[in-house]
Amino acid sequence: MLVIPESIIADLVSPADAYDAVAATFAAMARGQAYNFPVVREALGEGRQYGFKSGLDRAGGMLGVKAGGYFPANMGRGITNHQSTVYLFDPDSGRPTAMVGGNLLTALRTAAASALSIDRLARADARVLGIVGAGHQAGFQLRAAARVRQWERVIGWNLHPEMLPKLAATAAELGLPFEAVPLDRMVEADAIITITSSPAASLMAAHVGAGTHLACMGTDTKGKQEVDPALVAKARLFTDEVAQSVTIGEAQHAIAAGTVREGDITPLGAVLTGAHPGRGSADEITLFDGTGVGLQDLAVAAVAVARARERGLGVEVEV
Ligand code: NAD
Repeated sequence: MLVIPESIIADLVSPADAYDAVAATFAAMARGQAYNFPVVREALGEGRQYGFKSGLDRAGGMLGVKAGGYFPANMGRGITNHQSTVYLFDPDSGRPTAMVGGNLLTALRTAAASALSIDRLARADARVLGIVGAGHQAGFQLRAAARVRQWERVIGWNLHPEMLPKLAATAAELGLPFEAVPLDRMVEADAIITITSSPAASLMAAHVGAGTHLACMGTDTKGKQEVDPALVAKARLFTDEVAQSVTIGEAQHAIAAGTVREGDITPLGAVLTGAHPGRGSADEITLFDGTGVGLQDLAVAAVAVARARERGLGVEVEV
């Protein structure tokens, strides 16, 4: 099996690669050629979370699992709090084929899903991008979104405003004007990405204008929440995977309140394959509930493996 260390992932997989790989995966899911296995996520105590996301893509020949989680004490050790590794297996024999550092890949595949939703669901004339959140993932989200529309400016809000200058610096690198705003000014945005670890809604219905696209990316666990359930109830809903959306995604709260039904949520893959038209009108609110599926991880890890093999990188080991 090929071992690919975290340190060389940035040289192997670009945001464009991640975008293409995630698009292919979502389309394969919509065609019934690929499916995710149930997510396992456990609290280990002291704030630590550990879990597995896995799946099989028959079309892409991918079987595997991402193992990882959140380890808050890592900051004090000088390493990142989010730790993950992707393991790929031969779907025919079950033999392990690769072990790939999954930290950067997670950020790339998450940002790719959000950008894909913006590309396919935001209005073509979207010019103002809003970002709620300014943590580790936020910069990746901004970079990926910058690839799919000609933004004129970016507005940002974060519960902890001292984190916003880092996001502003990313916007500056992309040549985009950035302004820190109060939440009620998010109404100026044509697309809004939410990427926080919030346990309660920050973005309320009154903060979002008609015709806006929302990419809700932070809620990936039971109990997290970024968006007013009333906003979820009035939006046209899309997701990476319906089973995850209703249990661990942003829709979990509206489902529990009975204001949204599972049948109201469309997989983004169905838009990619042309089975669903996507946005219905210029003034409806569209919402992508990005919960993060195992197949996204396998797809970007497979790109890393292919590139590493082409270039003779990584370390081959017998197992
Ligand atoms: P981070 O720890 O670097 O940043 C956390 C962010 O949440 C910061 O902006 C912080 O200010 C904000 N925040 C914290 N508590 C809050 C509260 N009570 N109300 C509002 N905002 C609050 O985390 P990150 O790596 O940037 O990840 C952000 C979220 O995205 C996490 O919930 C993470 O689990 C999730 N995530 C989702 C996917 C996916 O595929 N959907 C993938 C990776 C990460």
